[in-house]
Amino acid sequence: MDSNYRIGFGSDIHRLVEGRPLIIGGIRIPSDTGAEGHSDADALLHAITDAILGALALGDIGSHFPDSEARWKDADSRTFLTEAANQMLKLGFRIANLDSVVHLETPKLRPHVEAMRKNIAMMLEIESDLVSIKAKTSEGFGMVGKGLAIKAEVVILVVNVR
Ligand code: MG
Repeated sequence: MDSNYRIGFGSDIHRLVEGRPLIIGGIRIPSDTGAEGHSDADALLHAITDAILGALALGDIGSHFPDSEARWKDADSRTFLTEAANQMLKLGFRIANLDSVVHLETPKLRPHVEAMRKNIAMMLEIESDLVSIKAKTSEGFGMVGKGLAIKAEVVILVVNVR
């Protein structure tokens, strides 16, 4: 039986260090520390990219944009997202909805959530009410709780419109 719907999951974690910008969902957030990585280290956009690729069993962000390649150094993660979205569109799929959790101890993300939702919706060319972002602290526990890491988790539902 062929299904019109596919579900995808993406998860990403980045170390937080001083002297790096903190970019989440394509939005720069004022912070004393930022995410370390080969690209701009936007954990949320990376997780969404992986969720889209995963829904269509197209591999993962690392196989499409290897961090061993110099051209992805400090790359804008919006490039990864739009490339994955274009592959999805070519296969005849559209996003039904997207839900996410960003785990970060500090700063508080709630004031930035609406801007992130709008920005992601714009990049994916969908309505922002299809994009959910929840922000959670880890109550002081683990790498996230100690302020050493940011983690993002995403589920996405895509539907074949052909
Ligand atoms: Mg990443």
